[in-house]
Amino acid sequence: MSFGGILGHAREIEILKGAASSGHVAHAFVFAGPDGIGKKLVATAFARALNCRVSPDDSCGACADCSMMDSSVHPNLIEVCPVDKDGEKDPEGLIRISQIREVQNALRFRVDSGMKVVIVDGADRLVPQAANAFLKTLEEPPPGSVIILVTSKASELLATILSRCQRMNFRPLPDEAVKGFLVENKGLSPNEAGAVARLSGGSISRAALFVDDGSLQKRKEVIERLSSIGPSDTAEALKFAEELSKTDGLDDVLEFIKSWYRDRIVASEGAPYLIANNDMERHLKDAGVGEFNRLCSSFWAVEEARKAIAPPRYANKQLTLEVLILKVSGAHFM
Ligand SMILES: [Zn+2]
Repeated sequence: MSFGGILGHAREIEILKGAASSGHVAHAFVFAGPDGIGKKLVATAFARALNCRVSPDDSCGACADCSMMDSSVHPNLIEVCPVDKDGEKDPEGLIRISQIREVQNALRFRVDSGMKVVIVDGADRLVPQAANAFLKTLEEPPPGSVIILVTSKASELLATILSRCQRMNFRPLPDEAVKGFLVENKGLSPNEAGAVARLSGGSISRAALFVDDGSLQKRKEVIERLSSIGPSDTAEALKFAEELSKTDGLDDVLEFIKSWYRDRIVASEGAPYLIANNDMERHLKDAGVGEFNRLCSSFWAVEEARKAIAPPRYANKQLTLEVLILKVSGAHFM
């Protein structure tokens, strides 16, 4: 993909285009920012722009270099991620020292034209030995090469790595951009697309996943079910908790429930333009205006349960959810 086809990140792309056309390219970059917003796409577009022989600051998409970039066989494009060259995923999701040695070997060959671009996707997954072995290369890559470390967890990179790179911070995409993508590519209605855009936190890949894995429908079912449980429906609350504990993607489901309470809080505070689940207006209306303190405490109870179940605490799912559902449905127990 060329820069022209990328959603958002206009400022970062402008800087990279300027570097490509002037030939003043930093020797190493860190592209930092949340997952799924297009950092790797920008890195790949930059590699193409640096190697296209037709267009000075972007790729033309038609020349021999662009075609080779498209099929990932261009000798100037070196990609590293926690997957080895046979396509096997590293069992621990790490980037090993052998992979860094391969990069260093590949960088030894001089380039005839363009620039060699190394893209390390998931740079926070470098094992310490690999990171240390990479320091010298990062500080002084061979002439005509540039290294791009892509990460959603820049704080986990060694300070010695960060200090050797020019850092670019990528922000989540605006809701409107994600919404437009979903309407155009996933066939959602504007209301549904708006809801998913809000829920995805500006990440295209997360938004696409919500649509493809049926999460959207699941969110509606969970919220309808939760809303139907009253303070005296103890048996129903416990049954629901048990079912939830067996659900795939429980973390996302709990995020949906949080977004539901958050919506009710903003609705009751008279800020409807901040509502995330805006395809569920009817449900919101039915739920009515809740008491502010109670809605807030429900929101935080869900967040507390989510954290308790997640690593490293691994609390008992069913028990944690039973306490949670009883609490948010208003049952008195002890
Ligand atoms: Zn080209």
